[in-house]
Amino acid sequence: MTTQPSTQGIRPAGYVLDEAPLGRAAQAADDLAAVREQWGDLLAAIGRPPRAEWPPRECREWEQPPAAEDAPAVGRLPLVLREHPAPLNLTALDAAVETERELFELCDTVAAAVQRPVRRHLVGRRTPDATLMRWAPDAADFADPARWSYASPTDPGSRAYGLHWAAVWLEGRALGEESGDLFAAVRPLLADEIAATARRARARVERALGRDGQPTVLDRSCPYCRGPLTAHTRSGDPAAATVVCGTGGACSAPVLLNGRGRREWAGAELVGLFVALEAAAS
Ligand SMILES: [Zn+2]
Repeated sequence: MTTQPSTQGIRPAGYVLDEAPLGRAAQAADDLAAVREQWGDLLAAIGRPPRAEWPPRECREWEQPPAAEDAPAVGRLPLVLREHPAPLNLTALDAAVETERELFELCDTVAAAVQRPVRRHLVGRRTPDATLMRWAPDAADFADPARWSYASPTDPGSRAYGLHWAAVWLEGRALGEESGDLFAAVRPLLADEIAATARRARARVERALGRDGQPTVLDRSCPYCRGPLTAHTRSGDPAAATVVCGTGGACSAPVLLNGRGRREWAGAELVGLFVALEAAAS
């Protein structure tokens, strides 16, 4: 879901011409994509006890192929989320429930503001006074898959497709993607709300997964010098994790010193650190 440079010059009539709204829309779409791409990890995390393990599970793929239960749970129904048989990580569960609720409610709000109501046709027998005619919803328009459908007491509507679909739908509205005459342009105030909600949702999901860039002091010490080890992650990119030994140049670990004079493991070097940690533990 990218913005084509060639379409960036096309703006709805009355649009305020400055660069900020386009940056905001792209950022909102980026945040929403980060939420849905990590949603399967978050749902999987609910069923596992939280622990300060190193390396994080997603960086340990060299150990064994991921089990089927670790496959991304994209499209899992909200009902399943609420009735999770054994939530072991309540932080992850809270983050998932809260994020899902916020995005579904935002979809309702955005749809109410920009989505054309279902078309209606006069149906029935034409009589001189039209008494046998009535308005009926257009079935094809009602069932348009691009449409956000609201929940009712008997039907979850688009919520049945889960958070992933809701996020994709919101990305489309944030970026002003067209679908015939189904959607009007999002007004600036609502665009602000989409951007703020998306940013908050991403921060909550990444915090629950320990990917919010906050350094974590590991519960294992350096296998080369017994110094403290600190893991650093980068927001949205678990593969960009590094581990730093607090000792400095006196540490004999076979990795280079970083810009602050500390031994630092990154990328494939983390495999070596993991092997050394395992050897030290046995
Ligand atoms: Zn060390």
